[in-house]
Amino acid sequence: MASRVIPVETFDLVIFGGTGDLARRKILPGLFRRFLSGQMPADARIIGAARSDLDQAGYRQMIKDAILEFGGAEKEDAVCLAKFLEQLNYTPIDAKGEAGWKALAGMVRRDVVQAFYFSVAPSLFGDLAARLHSHNIATETSRIVVEKPFGRDLETAKALNKSLADHFDESQIYRIDHYLGKETVQNLMAVRFGNVLFEPLWNNHYVDHIQITVAETVGVGGRGAYYDRSGAMRDMVQNHLMQLLCLIAMEPPSQFGADEVRDEKLKVIRALQNVESHHIVRGQYDAGKDGDGYRHDAENPRSFTESFIAMRCHINNWRWAGVPFYLRTGKRMKSRVSEIAVVFKDLGHSIFEGDEKRHRNILAIRLQPNEGMDLQVTIKEPGPGGMRLIDVPLDMTFAEALGDDAEDVTDAYERLIMDVIRGNQTLFMRGDEVEAAWAWTDPLIQGWEARNDVPKTYEAGSTGPEDAQMLLHRDGRRWRDLKV
Ligand code: NAP
Repeated sequence: MASRVIPVETFDLVIFGGTGDLARRKILPGLFRRFLSGQMPADARIIGAARSDLDQAGYRQMIKDAILEFGGAEKEDAVCLAKFLEQLNYTPIDAKGEAGWKALAGMVRRDVVQAFYFSVAPSLFGDLAARLHSHNIATETSRIVVEKPFGRDLETAKALNKSLADHFDESQIYRIDHYLGKETVQNLMAVRFGNVLFEPLWNNHYVDHIQITVAETVGVGGRGAYYDRSGAMRDMVQNHLMQLLCLIAMEPPSQFGADEVRDEKLKVIRALQNVESHHIVRGQYDAGKDGDGYRHDAENPRSFTESFIAMRCHINNWRWAGVPFYLRTGKRMKSRVSEIAVVFKDLGHSIFEGDEKRHRNILAIRLQPNEGMDLQVTIKEPGPGGMRLIDVPLDMTFAEALGDDAEDVTDAYERLIMDVIRGNQTLFMRGDEVEAAWAWTDPLIQGWEARNDVPKTYEAGSTGPEDAQMLLHRDGRRWRDLKV
């Protein structure tokens, strides 16, 4: 079963920061895969732009190396890779000065879809937006793509939004949260709103609680100094986990349109209760068998920044009243797992004599590894011996279920970039969503800063601090295992 690829309109995509890590590891390898799939028109053009003094050949070589290293390109793709590189250009530019802008203006076509990817530090967003206009490059339909971090609190996010809004309409701004581009995350919406089975159960009558986990095995090494100014709350919860929470909890939009979906997500964020301090556990990893501790990695021996956070949240609305949402994310954890688990309530009464075990249906949506879903159901244990019940997963791993099409499950970036070209903002964060998320997060961060809260240590390679287990034990619940 081969997937149907619909080519997009032709485009000029300028990647500011075209020599940077994100461009080389994600954006350009992703574009190459779209090229291989036949989605990229032959006259589409990609223009890398950065300060480095490279010529066309030098840039093409840099990106060829990057695609071979990060893009999964095989030897037999060599001919295709050479063709793809022919569509790639480079122009040196300084976001903070006038150098290079005239040349860029001469390169970008005005009669095709124009997209400008700001793959640079957020401090340059305002300069780029302003110069795209002062040099008469952007049009009323050009799109700009910006990356996280989108601010470090409400005030800075508002300032960033303003620096873009001064030059571009909200309908032109694409704020990337790559979690939203993941196949499973979109499947979450398909499962919820495309099946009659789940929606009637999706409320406080049937759902006991929901767990959202994003656990990483890697530490902060390499970007320790950056991370130390941020922490798990800013780096993961305010954006990725919050977006997952919104998608799982939102009301059905009237249609799958950008503003309809984003309006519903915004309502969820605005309905979030403030989290009490005893419902938040902050942690910092200690040295483990095969690595140093956080403070060493962050090069800050007195750091109070959290590399782990677990919290219990509530959504103040009719559907979710009384249902806890437990969020946890951390670095240097036992295994790399991202999943959302909807844990349904116990049966009120069991008709099976001697069956004292608690059986629960759990719908687990796995973002990584093995993108897919499983639904835990209770069945009879096979064989003689009466009605003994066991819980088994009905497993759908996309790679198995979809065969060849599973290749499309690879990377969120390529899907999101094609959405930019198509002009579809559904999977991008709107400015008011980002601000609402910071408005909820800020008081929590300010609270622990004012208390001089010291994160609990946890052993690297573990499931996090003991207090995180207690957070659920107190409620008579437990975290799902972090399976390897
Ligand atoms: P990076 O490796 O430091 O690259 C920065 C890019 O910006 C380089 O191409 C640099 O090239 C260019 N640049 C710097 N100053 C410039 C200026 N004045 N004018 C024009 N170009 C300039 O950073 P990155 O990791 O690619 O990250 C880019 C953005 O994506 C950041 O906002 C980051 O937070 C975000 N992000 C990155 C990742 C990731 O995996 N890397 C993930 C999520 C979000 P020259 O030095 O040649 O000018």
